[in-house]
Amino acid sequence: MDRPPLLCVNYAPGEFAGSAKIKQLKNYLVVILAIAVLMVMAISASTLYQSYQQTRQSAVSNASNVTLVSQRAISRNLEMLSLSLDTLAYRFQHPLSARRLNDAQRYAYLFGSTTNVSHIAVMAVLDADGRVQVSSRLGRGNGAPHYADRAYFIAHRDSPTVGLYVSRPMQASLGNELQVVVLSKRLSNEDGSFAGVVVMALDLAYFRELFEGLALGDEGIISLYSDEGIAYMRVPYRETIIGRDISQTGNFQRLRAMLSEEEGSFFAHATNDGVRRLYTFRRIPGSPLIVFVGYAEEAIFKTWRKTFYAVLVSLAIFGLLTAWLLLHVRQELRRRVTAERQLEALARTDGLTDLLNRRALDEALQATWERCQRNLGASFSVLFIDVDYFKAYNDTYGHKLGDTVLKEVAATLTARLPRHTDCAGRYGGEEFVVLLEQTDLQGAQMMAQRLCDAVRERHIAHTSSPLAVVTISVGVATLERDHHRRVEDVLNAADAALYRAKQAGRDRVHLSSQA
Ligand code: GH3
Ligand code: MG
Ligand code: MG
Repeated sequence: MDRPPLLCVNYAPGEFAGSAKIKQLKNYLVVILAIAVLMVMAISASTLYQSYQQTRQSAVSNASNVTLVSQRAISRNLEMLSLSLDTLAYRFQHPLSARRLNDAQRYAYLFGSTTNVSHIAVMAVLDADGRVQVSSRLGRGNGAPHYADRAYFIAHRDSPTVGLYVSRPMQASLGNELQVVVLSKRLSNEDGSFAGVVVMALDLAYFRELFEGLALGDEGIISLYSDEGIAYMRVPYRETIIGRDISQTGNFQRLRAMLSEEEGSFFAHATNDGVRRLYTFRRIPGSPLIVFVGYAEEAIFKTWRKTFYAVLVSLAIFGLLTAWLLLHVRQELRRRVTAERQLEALARTDGLTDLLNRRALDEALQATWERCQRNLGASFSVLFIDVDYFKAYNDTYGHKLGDTVLKEVAATLTARLPRHTDCAGRYGGEEFVVLLEQTDLQGAQMMAQRLCDAVRERHIAHTSSPLAVVTISVGVATLERDHHRRVEDVLNAADAALYRAKQAGRDRVHLSSQA
């Protein structure tokens, strides 16, 4: 038989204390696990960040060392080549006059062993009109082309303070297709006036060979630019890049702001191939040149990225395991809470009728009483119910059928209690108590009559009763604040009213206020 639940909402004296503890335990567990997860994530993030910084730092210092080595090598060589130009200039202006030299001797005197240096394509002296006076290739250059229109020539002619002039990369017109850079110095007369220029064409392969020995990793580059953004060399070598002007690119504009420093580093996408690199640069003193080393970001962080993914996977596994554990524990705790609730409900339920048992009924009455003490506007009524001639029923039909009747009467009572705040309990034997919250005597009387009628109308045969069917008698009492000092007083008043209902012939309702 389906029965409405017995739980009376106003009755909750210390209920489910166990499950409250379990809930608290669950909350602690969630907090502890959340803290553990957050800590692990924080530690992992900080370790990863530190190792990222370390990786970046060591890449910067590595690249910086390579630029330093290259800068020193180039610098030293430029110094040496500059000295060679000085020697040529001096010897050209101070010919040996003690004895007459033949051409070969004069050539040896002017150029010495400098022309044996493999990357010097040519050395020459130009007069004030730009005509070749002597050349390591042509000998004396009468009728040779003149170079008065060249940028280096104009620079020296117009200013005596230029020093070593480094030209833009150019194609040498020496019968082969060499890409060269022209180094030049001014030749002055004794009065300081312009006497011409000493020049030297340096094969750009010199820089290429210098750079090619360096290990730069995947997609690493080393390059040489002027501070005007002109490319002199790039390794890995690409011919098309030589001489290219990148002064208008965003990267170079950014670099320009840093050029007041001798060295520096920055991350950028390369203008030539789009690869993102860490660039470090150093200026070459006494020249407009800047050497760059670029390490591909991908290569720098390759190992770090592997660690990053490993940590990420570990964190994901840890997170999943934690979630699984939490879910498992939650399910287990939920099972325990349900079991405890069932146990609690069982401990408060009368085994035969499924109504509140005596203990639960007493607690409900006490709780209601206390609520009414706190709140003077609150009230309640009690119905004391007793099955009529029940001993006779047992005697006639047997104890077992007697039990069935008690169950049916209990079911009839609960089915007629409309409010969820009403509760019915078994007081003992064939006696029941119904507690009606916020119900005055008149309302309680109506309810009592309804219950009385409902039991009679079930027409449960009772041949030993003068009424022929099973009936109940009901005593009704309502809280009277002037007379009732304890909840038992209200209950006794209802019991007394019940007694009078019995006296009056049973199957009826009697109020405590009635005489
Ligand atoms: P009255 O109309 O005055 O109430 O008469 P009554 O016979 O109902 O009252 P009485 O107090 O004399 O008898 C109560 C009987 O209820 C006694 C007992 O056999 C029966 N009873 C008490 N508890 C149970 C129970 O759990 N099962 C059954 N079957 N009978 C019970
Ligand atoms: Mg009785
Ligand atoms: Mg009875």
